[in-house]
Amino acid sequence: MQFNFQLFTMPHPLDLFNYCPICGQKTFIETNEKAKRCASCGFVYYFNPSAAVACFIKNAKGELLVVRRGTPPAENTLDLPGGFVDMHETGEDSARREVKEETHLDVKECRYLFSIPNIYPYSGFKVHTLDLFYECEVESFDTAAADDDAEEILILRPEEIDPEDFGLTSVKEAVKRYISK
Ligand SMILES: [Zn+2]
Repeated sequence: MQFNFQLFTMPHPLDLFNYCPICGQKTFIETNEKAKRCASCGFVYYFNPSAAVACFIKNAKGELLVVRRGTPPAENTLDLPGGFVDMHETGEDSARREVKEETHLDVKECRYLFSIPNIYPYSGFKVHTLDLFYECEVESFDTAAADDDAEEILILRPEEIDPEDFGLTSVKEAVKRYISK
């Protein structure tokens, strides 16, 4: 695995929250690695992972659509279309929305595969995620166009898929699992 210096030097996310968001006192104390409690007013905050989706999109020929990341982290490496799940959204709806935003394609079928936890460095902050992986079917790749966070779209034949080309740790692991099934 590639050593990620940026992640290594980043503090635990809760270390960045020093003041109670309710009463404003500097008495926001870690109770364990998942939570902080305010000794002044009793407010408790649990730090939980954010849900995210990533999609394996295949066509009838068994080719896989992937994108090149246009933004950090792991800028310019390959990625699966996907992103963070919005509030009140299902994983499946999130998968369809993210695929549409990044590739302009409409997902016909969407099947959940597996999940892998990840840490996504963003804005000087370790964003802990639970990445939900889906296998999606589309009519064809003919109308695919890169948009949003996707810099470029690539269509890979099965023999062209190399997990090492994918920059995000969880996606690299997911690609390994996906091609070995
Ligand atoms: Zn407080």
